[in-house]
Amino acid sequence: MTASSEPQREATSRRRFLAAAGTAAAVPAAAALIGGGPLAGTARAAAPGALTSYAPVPPSALGPALNADGYFVGNISGNLYWVTDSVYQAMFLTTRNGVVLVDAPPTIGHNLLRAIADVTRVNGRPAKVTHLVYSHSHADHIGASSLLGTDVVRIGHRECRRLLLRANDPNRPAPTVIFDDHYVLETGGERLLLDYHGPNHTPDNIFIYAPDHQTLMVVDVIFPGWVPFKNLAVSQDIPDWIRAQDIAMGYQWQTLVGGHLGRLGRRADGDLQIAYVADLLAGARATIASLDPAPFFAAYGNNSWAIFKAYLDAAAAKVAGPVTAKYLGRLAAADVFTADNAYVMFEALRVDYGVLGPFGDHP
Ligand SMILES: [Zn+2]
Repeated sequence: MTASSEPQREATSRRRFLAAAGTAAAVPAAAALIGGGPLAGTARAAAPGALTSYAPVPPSALGPALNADGYFVGNISGNLYWVTDSVYQAMFLTTRNGVVLVDAPPTIGHNLLRAIADVTRVNGRPAKVTHLVYSHSHADHIGASSLLGTDVVRIGHRECRRLLLRANDPNRPAPTVIFDDHYVLETGGERLLLDYHGPNHTPDNIFIYAPDHQTLMVVDVIFPGWVPFKNLAVSQDIPDWIRAQDIAMGYQWQTLVGGHLGRLGRRADGDLQIAYVADLLAGARATIASLDPAPFFAAYGNNSWAIFKAYLDAAAAKVAGPVTAKYLGRLAAADVFTADNAYVMFEALRVDYGVLGPFGDHP
């Protein structure tokens, strides 16, 4: 499965990354790395003194400490485990026949195999990964799939296969077992239910449910302890992404594996994010009804895009202000991504929900 030299190489590359991250703080070194071309100015602009500072992350948003190799592996219930590098997460079941792994984030990489070995060494079950379930096709969640070789059954939604065949990425072999609505994966005395409820974050994102462990894994939908990633998790369908939060809450679970950040989710995390997103939508509705577009038309004349940009930026700021204030200290990074999340919500209100405001009046 892995050549003996690979763990060493992984450790080396991680050290190299950390070293690079350290040197990036020094402007001349960073500028030297990318040469004297047009990007040199970018490095200079990103100098530490010019970076925005943000509120501290609430301790409640953080997960367990990582080990020396940079990961944490923990038990959820019975034979169900999770692993994190504090930014990404995967989940696995140890069965009598081998391991069922859900996702293979490349940032965790070879540490996935170390985490599995840590567990199976103790519980005596086979460490070989027999099945790999893809939550969705995005490289940041399954880009280490190829580390598991060819002797593993890859399972995903039909759309996932289509997207991965298009991507033709050797790191992400397309699933060979696909399904449309539901799939029951049963092996070695354990089972996972895979459900597709339509597009949300991506067209292929699925819900992975372990009913015997009261655990749901759904990725890039609920972010326990944190506001959603920029632009509402860069989701391709905002109304369906919003609905996916409710679909997730409709499952019977006590533990959520969200695919991101350093800790597991509880039901209160889902409720809190739903409230945050609802506040963004309500704020967008109030703003589109109250923000006067006249100054933007007056300022930019025939430059239609400038009118739009200034109006939408002002609208996003107006929506974000009170929402940031309300959630700062309750959701980590409320001051980091709420403006971007508000922008996307405002645009979704216009084009998806059809509330066009000043740019939709019939002539
Ligand atoms: Zn994604």
